[in-house]
Amino acid sequence: MVRLNEVRSGELAVDLPARADAEVYFIGRIRTPWTDRLSCPRQGRADGPTCRIELFAPWDRGLDSIAEFARLEVLYWLHESRRDLALQAPKSDGNARGVFSLRTPVRPNPIGTSIVQLVKVEGAVLLVRGLDCLDGTPLIDLKPDRTLFKPLAPAQAGDFQVGEA
Ligand code: SAM
Repeated sequence: MVRLNEVRSGELAVDLPARADAEVYFIGRIRTPWTDRLSCPRQGRADGPTCRIELFAPWDRGLDSIAEFARLEVLYWLHESRRDLALQAPKSDGNARGVFSLRTPVRPNPIGTSIVQLVKVEGAVLLVRGLDCLDGTPLIDLKPDRTLFKPLAPAQAGDFQVGEA
């Protein structure tokens, strides 16, 4: 995994398309204690520090009712990542493998996700635990943790089951 933009042995850098197919709105900013990638945790922890998610107007209006949820899924834009490595060699073993078999921040669309504990809502700010991103990371979405939802209808024959090919 590339943490400081170096290209390691066995990694493959590809040409990025000339233009993007879609745009995103940054809807807020995440405040964490981490200012460099090497000191940042690789995944958030429930016992990690309390971090701030600051919503920009007008998207702060979308926080209505969010306090009903103990856990949220946070999606953020890993803005300091390069995006062009199709094969990456994690430092742990040095064996190159495809980007989609890794949770590396270096991805064609550098979207990070974390399930966080909602500690408190303070106006346009959420206090949460469980993040793993740099201070100033752009926020792209918030959703209630999917495991808090039950399916609307009971499972039926023919439904996709986890573990099916
Ligand atoms: N939890 C997310 C996921 O699984 O989608 C992100 C995991 S990624 C392995 C976390 C690492 O990304 C951190 O350890 C840090 O090295 C890097 N990182 C964090 N914030 C970043 C940012 N804003 N831009 C680039 N890299 C970032």
